[in-house]
Order: sequence, then C-alpha cells, then structure tokens
Amino acid sequence: MEAWSTEPVEDVRWREDAACRERSVNTFFPDQGEPTTARRICARCPVRRACLEFALATAQDHGVWGGATARERNMIRRGVLSIDELLARVIRPRRPRRRASRLAS
Ligand code: SF4
Repeated sequence: MEAWSTEPVEDVRWREDAACRERSVNTFFPDQGEPTTARRICARCPVRRACLEFALATAQDHGVWGGATARERNMIRRGVLSIDELLARVIRPRRPRRRASRLAS
C-alpha cells in the first residue's frame, strides 16, 4: 500500500523549500511535449516526495508534480507504478558541450 492518502492536506510548509519557487509556472504546466526542464528541476528538489504525495492526495490532474506527469500519477493511483519507483527515475543534469577546438586537439 502506498504512503499517500486522499485525506485533506493542510501542511504545505514543504513548498518553502521547493526548487521551483523562482521558476515560471509554465515550465511545470507545458502545453505539450515532454516536460524535460521541469523534470530536471524536480530531480534535484529536496521536497520531491512531499510534492508528489500532495499531488496524489489532492488529485492534481495537470502539470508536473514531484517530477511526475499526470499520466505517471495515474499509474501510481492504479498501482502500476510505486512512488519509490517514480522517485528513482532521475533526469541527469545536462553535460556542457565540448567546444570544437577542444575536440580537434
Ligand atoms: S518536486 Fe518539482 S514541482 Fe514539486 S516542489 Fe519540487 S521542483 Fe516544484
């Protein structure tokens, strides 16, 4: 059984430590496509689990929460994917590109 519930969530102090506090909300609610930027930010967020559990408990059906898309949250609700499995999915930071001059040497 998962650790999240559908009880009302009143304690949202975790938001104070959110990695997305200074980010545009549009990053986390993209119109279409894979939300890679949001996932990268979520991957290093210290309150990722609390965020995901909040989204599950409050039935958020849009956007990226805890690094999970609405589709992935539905998979968790249906028991197809666990919270721990979702949280183990890590988007690694982009590597800086090498300059052509360095490649030539
Ligand atoms: S997990 Fe992602 S959406 Fe949730 S608070 Fe952290 S950065 Fe924001």
